[in-house]
Amino acid sequence: MPILTIESTCDETAAAVIDGDCSVLGECIATQETLHERFSGVVPEVAARAHLERILPVIDTAIRQSGINPADLDAIAVADRPGLAGSLLVGVIAAKTLAIAWNKPLVAINHLHAHLYACHLSGVRDRTQSSAYPSVGLVVSGGHTSLYHCRSPLDLEYLGGTIDDAAGEAFDKVATMLSLGFPGGPAVAKLAAKGNRDAYPFPRSMIHQPHFNFSFSGLKTAVRYAITGPGQQDFASLKLADQVKADVCASFEAAVVDVLVGKSCRAIRETGVRKLIVGGGVAANRYLRERLNDAAKKDGFELTIAPAELCTDNAVMGAIAWEKIRRGDFASLDLDITPGLQRGF
Ligand code: ATP
Ligand code: MG
Ligand code: FE
Repeated sequence: MPILTIESTCDETAAAVIDGDCSVLGECIATQETLHERFSGVVPEVAARAHLERILPVIDTAIRQSGINPADLDAIAVADRPGLAGSLLVGVIAAKTLAIAWNKPLVAINHLHAHLYACHLSGVRDRTQSSAYPSVGLVVSGGHTSLYHCRSPLDLEYLGGTIDDAAGEAFDKVATMLSLGFPGGPAVAKLAAKGNRDAYPFPRSMIHQPHFNFSFSGLKTAVRYAITGPGQQDFASLKLADQVKADVCASFEAAVVDVLVGKSCRAIRETGVRKLIVGGGVAANRYLRERLNDAAKKDGFELTIAPAELCTDNAVMGAIAWEKIRRGDFASLDLDITPGLQRGF
């Protein structure tokens, strides 16, 4: 029998009905991009309120699409960590309420483990690829940039991560400086394709340091100084030529990708694992995908990047809940959220 998965960690309200073989029977995602665009970032209170309005229609749509009766669900799974507190609360309370109303067991999902499990799903679905585990996992998203040694879907050892901004956040901030809208990743990537990657010598922070941490805040500042000079903050009034914007985007993207590829390859060498899996919104970036492919060929490791539609937030990657169900690892009805500001998720 299938399960219902619920995702509301940030600004996507999503639900899916997923069978034990990971086939998707129903799915619905409501994005909030237009709500947050004028603030150039996700406003937590606005996100929570929007989740509240959308969560039941989204769940209802996914269940209707699946054609199943809620009585036939095996369990209700929900991402309880990490994320924005108000956003997480809406999903967790909805899941607990339905678990009580329909008398179903509850399963808690770690959203970052789910981002990596998206890599596993393509292999499970077409039955041609081997398991995505054991592997080195790179989560590169709006809120996180982390490397893990993934022994299995639920057994992950944190190797390191960003000490300040996430890579996706840096993409979004650079997009704001160039008035490219929100979320900025896809817009920066599109312009970057027309630019010169060597136009600006932006920093590759920590690239040669023998650990797995990242830092992107200095890069962000370097981009700012490159386009405004120190002191000026008024990005909206800047009149930059299209080619300058494209060159900034291309040079910025190259700096981010150099560090992500460099650190991932270091993790492969040092763990001795021969497989890299990559998930999260920034994994949709075409230049990153190309460079990872080149590195995998050169260094001789296997690479699985999450399918593009499963990179940004979705409830299908909540299929990881099946791994917990098979272990009998259920959550109690007093499940609480873990927004998770401490490192190491
Ligand atoms: P987290 O998973 O850390 O809680 P999140 O859920 O908000 O954060 P995701 O939905 O996984 O993050 O990813 C959103 C991020 O991905 C945004 O910062 C967005 O700009 C970035 N992004 C999306 N597509 C691309 C792209 N093609 N190139 C670069 N960045 C991208
Ligand atoms: Mg989002
Ligand atoms: Fe996410």
